[in-house]
Amino acid sequence: MEKTVLFDFIDGAKEKIIARGRKFFDCPELGFKEFQTMEMICEELEKWGVPYEKGIAMTGVKATIGKGCGYHIGVVADIDALPGKDGGCIHSCGHSIQTTLALTVLEALVQTNFLEETEGCVTFFFTPAEEFIDFSYRDGLIKEGKLEFRSGKQNMIALGCFDDVDCILSAHANGDRETKFDVGSALAGFLAKKAVFQGKSSHSGAAPHLGRNTLHGAMLTMQAISFLKEQFPPEAGLRLHPVLTETGGDVNQIPGETILETYIRANDRESLFAAEKRFDACVGHCAAALELGWEIKTTAGYLPLRQSDRLNETVKENMLLLCEEKDIVKNPVSGASGDVGDLGSLLPAVQFGFSGIEGRFHSSDFIIREEENCYIRAAKVLAGTIFDLLTQPEKQVYPENFSEKKEQYLSLLRQNQ
Ligand SMILES: [Zn+2]
Ligand SMILES: [Zn+2]
Repeated sequence: MEKTVLFDFIDGAKEKIIARGRKFFDCPELGFKEFQTMEMICEELEKWGVPYEKGIAMTGVKATIGKGCGYHIGVVADIDALPGKDGGCIHSCGHSIQTTLALTVLEALVQTNFLEETEGCVTFFFTPAEEFIDFSYRDGLIKEGKLEFRSGKQNMIALGCFDDVDCILSAHANGDRETKFDVGSALAGFLAKKAVFQGKSSHSGAAPHLGRNTLHGAMLTMQAISFLKEQFPPEAGLRLHPVLTETGGDVNQIPGETILETYIRANDRESLFAAEKRFDACVGHCAAALELGWEIKTTAGYLPLRQSDRLNETVKENMLLLCEEKDIVKNPVSGASGDVGDLGSLLPAVQFGFSGIEGRFHSSDFIIREEENCYIRAAKVLAGTIFDLLTQPEKQVYPENFSEKKEQYLSLLRQNQ
């Protein structure tokens, strides 16, 4: 079978695909609450007679097609939305497009019987809760034992969903207006820090010398952090924005406890963990200088995404079947983060970008402007890449030391919950 059979199928189903996209866009649900979305995905799978597993990490779905003994591709699609106006929700990160793309490619592979000709298989993962929000709800689910972590992919990794997968393909909408696609983008990683300074309250007029002012410790730390940022190169993408979330004390009382919180973001793993160490040192040394006690709580966020260059060569070849070189942005750096970064730290992964959005991401003015690019061209890039990987073994990339990496990853995540 030629690749054009897949492309022709997608072109032939265009109206249906766009209608599917609109249907999912109109069903925005927050992470781990995507119950209706999950049912809609399963309904489609049932229509095509594809077996699936649902309710994974609350609302995730997984469906494998193909004979299953050769190269195993994982296609990952986010399904969650964000809060919108007046207490509602909106798909303002474009995850409904990812869901639509995955279902479209799955349908194309099934209806053309392409996988019958190969030894490979493809698993489609519809992953909940990519947006790192709504903590009180999620922490409640963790307490009830329904989840272990705050994000969909983190839970699915822990549940072993990706254990037998060889590579991950995914796509995300981008905000570009001038081009069609991006390839090889870097996503930042982040973690959260909460530093508690412990001192002694005292009368601020009569006996300040008997107190130990924690606000002073926090201010000194803020100063140290602003100097610290200068010691990382611009490409590290280090971002630290400390805020004092509790200052303690009053005008007549030396503050006995002050809390400083920040996210630490960086473009690569090394810079992220180096900055973390240095942040802890700033807190510890500044507190010690003023005879204050201190405690730090670290909460893991997402890891920076480092994409597989070799897989991206194949992705780009497929983009070039649909547009010109000038329509593809190469290796952009984004300040955003995603839990696909965690997956990419364990096995070869790509997340290409497609344009066609108007308005701001994560805001209520987000609009899907160019449906052709979002739903049709992007689906062809994904389907074409799968076709190449399964028909040209020299293009396949395999994971290295997956179990070892997964064990280290989970232990780090469990330490910093
Ligand atoms: Zn987002
Ligand atoms: Zn997103």
